[in-house]
Amino acid sequence: MKPAVFVMRALPGGIPEAVRASCEVLGGDRAPPARETLPEVARGAETLVVTYLDRVDGPLLAALPAVRRVCSYGVGVNHVDLPACRERGVVLTNTPDVLTDATADLAMALLLAAARRVAEGDRLIRAGAWRAVAPDFFLGTEVSGKVLGIVGFGRIGQAVARRALGFSLRVLYSGPREVAFPGAERVGLDRLLSESDFVSLHCPLNEETRNLLSRDRIARMKRGAVVVNTARGPVLDEEALADAIEDGRLFAAGLDVFRDEPNVPPRLRTLERVVLTPHVGSGTVETRTAMAGLVWEEVLRAVAGRAPAHPVP
Ligand code: NAP
Repeated sequence: MKPAVFVMRALPGGIPEAVRASCEVLGGDRAPPARETLPEVARGAETLVVTYLDRVDGPLLAALPAVRRVCSYGVGVNHVDLPACRERGVVLTNTPDVLTDATADLAMALLLAAARRVAEGDRLIRAGAWRAVAPDFFLGTEVSGKVLGIVGFGRIGQAVARRALGFSLRVLYSGPREVAFPGAERVGLDRLLSESDFVSLHCPLNEETRNLLSRDRIARMKRGAVVVNTARGPVLDEEALADAIEDGRLFAAGLDVFRDEPNVPPRLRTLERVVLTPHVGSGTVETRTAMAGLVWEEVLRAVAGRAPAHPVP
């Protein structure tokens, strides 16, 4: 009997032959099955393939007692109850590194689009509303020479810093540890918020970072600053951000992630100065294919009884 793998939802490129040859593959449809049916449809699975959309918690693991490994497509693991995995000896893997550049590119795209009002200008022209050619028409805010504060200076945060230096931004960062990175200065979060013209979020979502950019902290940000979030929605207070942009304290925001995806608060959708993308930080063909490749590699390692390549500590 081949070991069973349950695939919660289809990944790009389908299921490789090598995986079909060594495992009994269950699931893998475009949409995931209803949660209450999982004990039945995933019965006997030793490995689960999930994405950030699929909550993996104690009750799920209890309902699927054969599961030994959970392979998650993506780098963030806030959808997985880590203590529940630890308690049951379940190993969690993710897909780091391959998505770093794509996500850093999107953060820079949102920063530039928000600063230079790219999406707003596009909407203006499409609406047939571009009539003025005055010298002070439709001004954005300068990027070169300003200060970028990066919250969370790991793989993606540092990749954003590399790009930012090319745009002549001065880089500050905050995070639990000092990183040797020429041209970037580590500061406390309060100083970062009060001195940065652009603040880009790149920390993981956990109990410490939930609501990290709170109403109170937004109120202490530099006037006219721009917020970029490609981390996770709950890291910032969306309502407080909308208030600050509406009353002109902040210049703009670029958001790829939201508290209740795919539902984006109507206020954010109506504010011209907010640039929105539908959680596509890693969303390039190349990156998503590479992420799927890492997942299948982990599945093959699991069924061969080999140590995972990317275990989440
Ligand atoms: P990473 O390499 O682990 O970097 C995260 C960094 O944040 C680490 O240096 C970590 O420090 C730091 N950190 C932890 N707690 C912090 C805090 N309270 N304040 C400031 N920094 C803190 O992860 P990554 O690969 O860069 O990914 C970062 C996050 O981006 C993921 O967790 C995911 O949620 C998000 N993401 C989103 C997309 C998208 O599609 N929009 C794509 C990929 C990733 P320590 O290592 O010392 O804990």
